[in-house]
Amino acid sequence: MTNDATASTASSDNAPVDFIRARINRDLAEGRYTCVHTRFPPEPNGYLHIGHAKSICLNYGLARDYNGLFNLRFDDTNPVKEDTEYVDSIREDVRWLGGEWDDREFYASDYFDQLYEYAEQLIKAGKAYVDSQTAEQIRETRGTLTTPGIESPYRNRSVEENLDLFRRMRDGEFPDGAHVLRAKIDMASPNVVMRDPTLYRIRHAEHHRTGNKWKIYPMYDFTHCLSDSIEGITHSICTLEFVNNRELYDWVLETLGVYRPQQIEFARLGLTYTVLSKRKLIQLVKEGYVRGWDDPRMPTICGFRRRGFTPEAIREFCARIGVARAENLVEYGLLEFCVREHLNAIAPRYMAVLDPIRLVIDNYPEGQVEWFDMPVSQDGTIPGERQVPFSRELYIERDDFRMDPPKKFHRLYPGAEVRLRYGYYVTCTSVECREDGTPEVIHCVYDPQTRGGSSPDGRKVKGTIHWVSAAHAVPAEVRLYSQLFTVPNPNNVPEGQTYLDLLNPDSLQTITAQLEPALASLPAGSTVQFERLGYFCADPDGTPEKPVFNRTVTLKDSWAKQENKA
Ligand code: ATP
Ligand code: MG
Repeated sequence: MTNDATASTASSDNAPVDFIRARINRDLAEGRYTCVHTRFPPEPNGYLHIGHAKSICLNYGLARDYNGLFNLRFDDTNPVKEDTEYVDSIREDVRWLGGEWDDREFYASDYFDQLYEYAEQLIKAGKAYVDSQTAEQIRETRGTLTTPGIESPYRNRSVEENLDLFRRMRDGEFPDGAHVLRAKIDMASPNVVMRDPTLYRIRHAEHHRTGNKWKIYPMYDFTHCLSDSIEGITHSICTLEFVNNRELYDWVLETLGVYRPQQIEFARLGLTYTVLSKRKLIQLVKEGYVRGWDDPRMPTICGFRRRGFTPEAIREFCARIGVARAENLVEYGLLEFCVREHLNAIAPRYMAVLDPIRLVIDNYPEGQVEWFDMPVSQDGTIPGERQVPFSRELYIERDDFRMDPPKKFHRLYPGAEVRLRYGYYVTCTSVECREDGTPEVIHCVYDPQTRGGSSPDGRKVKGTIHWVSAAHAVPAEVRLYSQLFTVPNPNNVPEGQTYLDLLNPDSLQTITAQLEPALASLPAGSTVQFERLGYFCADPDGTPEKPVFNRTVTLKDSWAKQENKA
């Protein structure tokens, strides 16, 4: 689909070659690298989202397809925002998506000693200095895209003075913000990133792994390129906003004379009706706009998991969107399409009624119960069956009945005969209504000859509806979700508003449904089809007495129709 594919051959499978694979093929052909070693480098300051999934699928997929290696590396350079809760969730999510890193789990903080040595090396080479300006002064003298920056009055400190100050920074002699270590590059560079970027800052803060050992912490840019170098990463794949940082990474690695990976940038994923900025996602969680990181409305991996999306579906989505260098906003509908396709193949079918109305079969013996053995898929492709009770009083979907049916309404109405799925044919004989005319109880007669849902005389009925036995039905909380935001791109905020004003107040609707009994004992995380209604996933909030289900996706597939039209 959307990729800048060139005409070279694929690596190990027949997938089309995107621009990244083309680049790697060339590197291998020219002997610049002899293997492929990638990594996924999250900062543990939030939970992973669908954008990260794209990066994981890309990096892990490359390592797998080229028979190479894949590292999981936590870029944990900011002690204030990071937490082991995030580390644990990231591990779980990468593994769930199918990423395997064996024993190659690394932490940038494992390299702090080595990074410190590299920093001293730069100082000794006259390539870094301690600046004692305030953060504000440094910002103000950085210049703009059109004007050069101004050199710091501390820029020409001697190597000895720089070393002394830097060591005292390390030893905790100075408060936060008193000094920073800066690279000595070029304050007039057209690339603002190259204007003496900060390499180290003082932070008297406890780190989730190194505790109180460090009073200074390396900046992301310094750490990131050196971590890739230390790990022997061949292709350092990142998103487009790091294009300008590449020059700095090359400078750091070349100045230190260490191994240099090849950086390749690709476009970030954007998804309609949602936000993927960690800052915003954290705000949605912390301020209670959603129930947590794993709220099924969140675009997080754990949110999708709780909603019933599968790793296969997410991987298929990532494969379909491909990689490109042009920023684009992908339709949420495409993700749902991938989920539906996979669930259609694997989800067992059950019966549930979301909006129940009572149906009484007047000629069915009172107190009689028949247990039907029913497969969990009509064509037998999904193994398993369950027992479904049938009795005189059932629930059916309110929408499957009309007093005055419109044309071509093939379900139930006074005088009509329908098939109860796997059950019997029933004919509606009368209806009890409330004072306002709303139907309350539907009366039917059944034909005992039609057990199992077919008639020996070959009589056909047009409609088949689902049902549950009222006496055996298990009431359940069902959570119906719609988009978290009301507009396709909540990053485009109208003037005078914030993205929070674009939140959809009706993104969660909770109803009480009636389930066939077998559904009550499914473990949390099971995704099933409620026949004719959609895919639903058992939620951990539920118990066998009071199950809770999330609607994963509806059955209706507007995406496929859209695709066929195009
Ligand atoms: P932050 O602003 O905190 O840096 P981030 O989304 O970049 O947020 P990281 O933890 O740095 O978070 O991301 C880890 C990796 O995932 C990076 O290599 C980044 O390029 C990639 N990534 C993040 N967001 C997306 C996205 N929307 N699409 C594709 N890749 C992404
Ligand atoms: Mg980042």
